[in-house]
Amino acid sequence: MNDEKNKRMERIQKIRNFIQELEDIKESIIKFLNTRLKLDEVTKNLWISDVKDFYYNTVSAWEMLNNAANGNLKCVDDSKNFLHLARGQLAKSISELKFYKEELVSNLIKEVEINFEKCWNAFYFEFESLTPINKSIKPIPRVIKISSFEYHLPCSVCGKISITYKIGPDWLDDHESLVYIGITHSRSLRKDLANMLFEILDNENLSGVHQFMLKYHSLEGLDAYCPECDKIYCWEHYNAKEDYDDGFYDCTCGECPNGHRRMIDD
Ligand SMILES: [Zn+2]
Ligand SMILES: [Zn+2]
Repeated sequence: MNDEKNKRMERIQKIRNFIQELEDIKESIIKFLNTRLKLDEVTKNLWISDVKDFYYNTVSAWEMLNNAANGNLKCVDDSKNFLHLARGQLAKSISELKFYKEELVSNLIKEVEINFEKCWNAFYFEFESLTPINKSIKPIPRVIKISSFEYHLPCSVCGKISITYKIGPDWLDDHESLVYIGITHSRSLRKDLANMLFEILDNENLSGVHQFMLKYHSLEGLDAYCPECDKIYCWEHYNAKEDYDDGFYDCTCGECPNGHRRMIDD
């Protein structure tokens, strides 16, 4: 047992070395941005802080992984959250750097992508070894009815609550509305739609919920839903990735465990 732990600690130390490489690349990017004379100060500072955010989120992911390996298994989820934040932040940074067409920049982008992927895979190896997927005895329900005013949709892989619908106060005022909390965003929908939706939910008709969202919410429908699988996935199991265009949020795409891809937020 101890031997296994030692090996794990060695591997985790190796990830720290990968992160050291990321730090060097981060410094090169900052140096590059700092020497752009035509880049205005505000944009420069923004872009530098984006690349720093990417790096420090990766470091935090590592710290949480280290805690988890030392027995605090609750930190696995925190580590995953930081790692996913880092991936989104990196996509943002890269979309900014692509403003420059120099070879130096495309090399830095290539390098940071390769190194981050190495980190990502190493992290996921540890996540899986720390939390063996317990072929749960209890099947995961499609819909969980909390009350006549609140429903949850769990991830079909891990059971994590991915969608919440409830009658509650609006974001802006005290009016009650039908609140939707998805994996990419939250929104208030008209309260008078609740009866129709709740009936669909009572029938555990996920495709019906998706149709409802297509009609009353957006062209992407229910963000956590894969129509081809007819299943719900959490952010992690939908492998959700944010896309950026010149540093601005563009959309989020998901790829389910069966390889079905679609845009889930725009
Ligand atoms: Zn999941
Ligand atoms: Zn699918």
